[in-house]
Amino acid sequence: MSNYKIAAIPGDGIGVEVIAAGVEVLKALAAKRGTFGLDFEHFDWGSERYLREGQYIPEGGLEALKSFDAIFFGAVGSLEVADHVSLWGLRLPICQGFDQYANVRPARVLPGVTSPLAKGKAIDWVIVRENSEGEYSGSGGRVHQGLPIEVATEVSTFTRVGVERIHRFAFELARSRPAKHLTLVTKSNAQRHGMVLWDEVFAEVAQDYPDVRTTRELVDAVTTTMVLKPEQLDVVVATNLHADILSDLAAALSGSLGIAPTANLNPSRDFPSMFEPIHGSAFDITGKGVANPIATFWTAVMMLEHLGETAAAAELMSAIEAVTESGLHTPDLGGKATTREVTDAVLALIRR
Ligand code: ATP
Repeated sequence: MSNYKIAAIPGDGIGVEVIAAGVEVLKALAAKRGTFGLDFEHFDWGSERYLREGQYIPEGGLEALKSFDAIFFGAVGSLEVADHVSLWGLRLPICQGFDQYANVRPARVLPGVTSPLAKGKAIDWVIVRENSEGEYSGSGGRVHQGLPIEVATEVSTFTRVGVERIHRFAFELARSRPAKHLTLVTKSNAQRHGMVLWDEVFAEVAQDYPDVRTTRELVDAVTTTMVLKPEQLDVVVATNLHADILSDLAAALSGSLGIAPTANLNPSRDFPSMFEPIHGSAFDITGKGVANPIATFWTAVMMLEHLGETAAAAELMSAIEAVTESGLHTPDLGGKATTREVTDAVLALIRR
């Protein structure tokens, strides 16, 4: 029997509430099936720790994390810490340090959920986000700080290796799906260096996948395709910044940010991968008990799939869909249910 070591990092805000719900559901699933085990270790890495001790990740923390099979992450962000400090203090060191270069973001309208789009049911996308470089490479600096002549640079970095591996990952994913269709999102009309390399390498990799149909869209144009012709998209590959924005739009079009999951994958499996809901700390609802845990449950499905526990993943996905279909919805989906009630409903189906 496989026993998986999972690092739970709830982080900040509603991350604490939804990860607690996710751990409860995963433990119930493992106990019921009896075919695999999950050992959770909890890490208090968040903004409270940063404000108390000056660090999000303690000395040697990343090294300790390496021995885990997967990381189950909530959210990071606090009203008391600048966003760039919290993001670069916790989430990005894990993504970059563990070379989790493929960020996978499925979007679909779950049963019982209403999309703001009339054609919402046509949404069945997977957005593949380059997760290690591009616009979020961290390259740049500030000169003459505080003076009128102050200058700041934010350098987008595109490496041939980085671009090729994400395109190849996206082609493999597109090939595994019935539509076998991959859309390249670009902005190479205006950005004539990195984005041109991005397009050129895509065309090279495409030679190895003659069975995958490809289309190319500028990032501004693809937003209208998403809204007006959702059926024209299947797998989408985009840069770190572009996919960050497009996947929030995809989540909203699927009904709510509260249902959207994501996986930060290290496909070579040299390091653990990290699974998290797309949403952030959501200060407006923190502590009110109404955070939608569905994004975290779907994230748990992705984690189980990555661990190879596909039957358990399918069972959890069915339970999630049965609960959304039943109309038991948190306020973000127009309902009145609490985090506890939605969690209990999923637990009841698992334990049945
Ligand atoms: P970040 O910048 O880290 O993405 P943020 O606080 O700017 O975080 P989010 O937390 O992602 O933004 O969410 C924006 C809003 O969407 C929240 O303020 C909240 O109202 C709503 N929201 C997000 N996640 C959920 C959820 N799980 N359940 C209910 N509402 C949610």
